[in-house]
Amino acid sequence: DKLLEMKDISKSFSGVKVLKGVNLKVDKGEIHALVGENGAGKSTLMNILSGIYEYGSYEGDVLLEGKKCKFKNIKDSGEKGIVIIHQELALVPYLSIAENLFLGNEQEEKGIINWNKTHTYTEKLLEKVGLHENSHELIKNIGVGKQQLVEIAKALAKEVKLLILDEPTAALNDTDSEHLLNLLLELKEEGMTSIIISHKLKEVTKVADKITVIRDGSTIETLVKGKDAITEDRIIKGMVGRELVDR
Ligand code: ADP
Ligand code: MG
Ligand code: MG
Repeated sequence: DKLLEMKDISKSFSGVKVLKGVNLKVDKGEIHALVGENGAGKSTLMNILSGIYEYGSYEGDVLLEGKKCKFKNIKDSGEKGIVIIHQELALVPYLSIAENLFLGNEQEEKGIINWNKTHTYTEKLLEKVGLHENSHELIKNIGVGKQQLVEIAKALAKEVKLLILDEPTAALNDTDSEHLLNLLLELKEEGMTSIIISHKLKEVTKVADKITVIRDGSTIETLVKGKDAITEDRIIKGMVGRELVDR
């Protein structure tokens, strides 16, 4: 069952073509990894989904559950259930973990906070990501690993349909990375669909059901777990531009 389809996406910056007809299909409930060397165009492709580059500033089509999307901005894509967690996190440093979660709460935006309900809800989300004992800690005092988890909790508060993580473990130690990846697998069991951008082949092979290799703004291939041989060698070949086996 298809959730997302990106068809023949091209995007230029000041006349320089950065995406050259990229195709990506993501099924409901899968973890889809996007790999490729630095500068390949991975973040640019995901920014199109997040609404950062509005409809009309790129070529090609984005379909969500079969429906064509013309995102005007981040809010627009967020309302359709797409949440992207960037490498630079968007948290308020001098507020606590719980307060940062309140900020993302839609009810609060509408000015109708039910504090008891909100508290219970926040605690539930924090428990889900393993931060329930840390809710009063200030963002500035916690490590990047926990900050990533707060971002994920914020996404869950928004009833996310597609969770996109752009190099979530790049600044994390092994323990925090493992925790985050296990959370991703747990969310998948509950039906979550996610796209993870990563340079770390070991973690990609651990969590991903499919791996799309992007090189120099083009899709090289999509490998399917259980069908294609997902070897580090094969992905590395896609990344460094050496000739690919078989295709
Ligand atoms: P990746 O995420 O795979 O490392 P990016 O999508 O960040 O790659 O970048 C792809 C290419 O697009 C790079 O050459 C980068 O310099 C260029 N690029 C990205 N964003 C911009 C921008 N806002 N203006 C100009 N060039 C950009
Ligand atoms: Mg990069
Ligand atoms: Mg990037």
